[in-house]
Amino acid sequence: HGNRSRRPAETRRQRRPLAGCRASIASLKVAIIGAGAAGLATAAELLTAGHAVVVFEQSSRLGGVWDYTEAVEDDPLGKAPRRRIHSSLYAAMRVNLPRDLMAFEGFPFDAAVSADRRRYPRHDAVLAYLNRFADVKGILPHIRFEHRVRRVVAGRCWHVDGEQFDAVAVCNGHYSEPYVPALPGLEEFPGATLHSHNYRRPDAFAGKRVVVLGSSVSGADLAREIGEVADAVFFCGRAFHHMSAAAQTTNIRRCPPVERFAASTVVLAGGERIGSIDNERVDGEASGQVDAFVFCTGYRYAFPFLKTLVAVDDNWVRGLYRQIVLCAHPTLALVGLPFRIVPFPLFQRQARWFARLLGGTFALPPREERRRERAKELRAHRAAGLPKRHFHFLGDRQIDYLNQLARQCGDAPVPDRFAGLWRRHNQQARRFPDDYRDRPLPAG
Ligand code: FAD
Repeated sequence: HGNRSRRPAETRRQRRPLAGCRASIASLKVAIIGAGAAGLATAAELLTAGHAVVVFEQSSRLGGVWDYTEAVEDDPLGKAPRRRIHSSLYAAMRVNLPRDLMAFEGFPFDAAVSADRRRYPRHDAVLAYLNRFADVKGILPHIRFEHRVRRVVAGRCWHVDGEQFDAVAVCNGHYSEPYVPALPGLEEFPGATLHSHNYRRPDAFAGKRVVVLGSSVSGADLAREIGEVADAVFFCGRAFHHMSAAAQTTNIRRCPPVERFAASTVVLAGGERIGSIDNERVDGEASGQVDAFVFCTGYRYAFPFLKTLVAVDDNWVRGLYRQIVLCAHPTLALVGLPFRIVPFPLFQRQARWFARLLGGTFALPPREERRRERAKELRAHRAAGLPKRHFHFLGDRQIDYLNQLARQCGDAPVPDRFAGLWRRHNQQARRFPDDYRDRPLPAG
């Protein structure tokens, strides 16, 4: 504790809840919840900064989402409160970002990692990459496997399942709690229903007529996979508002979003029906019924072990400063909340920012100023007419966000190459949604 007096006054104030903890200021004891990509990046940055870490991982393996399993939940929509299965990957899934963009900075995704040399490799190459990262960075001895964290309590120190820590990094992942929109009539729909969390392969859909709802990455992948064996796929989503199912001739038809169910019929925005007699007549097929409905409607943030420390409102995690730390308790970080981003590098830079904050490399502005910044952000979000659930959507704003973090903690700005590659990948994925993974990216 000898160097405590050299800390900036604000940093001392931020650390008040820590008084009485064993660790010295230079080296804090930090709990990390989850050994997926975010937890591993956070462990690496904290260890580099000289902190002590304990990584709690509920499973017996690291990798989180990338630890593929054939197992699925007993309940296909995943609405039951208790999740048994963490990973939401499907068997043939290939990454949706070029691996040279996806990798942690300074830790390339190269031939040393996997025999799959494609720029968009299959998911098992990512698991191999994360295992190698954990090994090279010396993280493995710090992981406590098969420990599911049940309770984090704030006090003079943080208590994680009763054990004291100076700080906590929450890295529990955000692709395990299915979001199923409340569509009227769903309960009466006689066909099979499934959330993409529980989809592994298309076999069960052979010869069937299937609705896939959700036009984001998983929706596009599943519509294509299922389309290879199904009779017809109605691929519905906001991206296809203006299209009519009846007007299209291939077995994958792009349709407006689904509004409701009417018994065995699916009613689209705009009134068109799938599975009705009308539809049967229009497309001239033997059977008009819909046999199965797949929700690719995304996931919800959930932090059951934080209880009342964090509130989630329409998928907006409230009370955060710069999308990472709790405004009221800045020694608790939630790493990896933003979406439509390049995840691994973002985790890494958030983690570096947090490690430097804890080490006293920089101090946060006073609490009032942090609150003002948050309120301003919120006003801008509302003025742009965006729903709360888009608060963590960064997209093209991610570069500015990462550079803001870098400036604050004295890190290097994001390399120009990163922004260029992100732009070229996006153009390619938009232009060739069906096979962008197998096309060379245009030169930068
Ligand atoms: P996770 O990988 O989910 O890890 C969280 C970990 O926390 C898990 O190991 C879990 O067991 C553990 N945990 C949770 N709760 C507790 C608890 N209470 N106690 C202890 N441990 C706990 N990203 C890309 O970069 N490229 C892609 O191509 C890509 N494709 C994707 C495809 C799909 C279908 C999905 C679902 C996601 C995809 N992503 C992709 C995003 C991917 O989720 C992130 O890249 C990243 O792996 C998330 O890492 P994470 O550590 O935040 O979460």
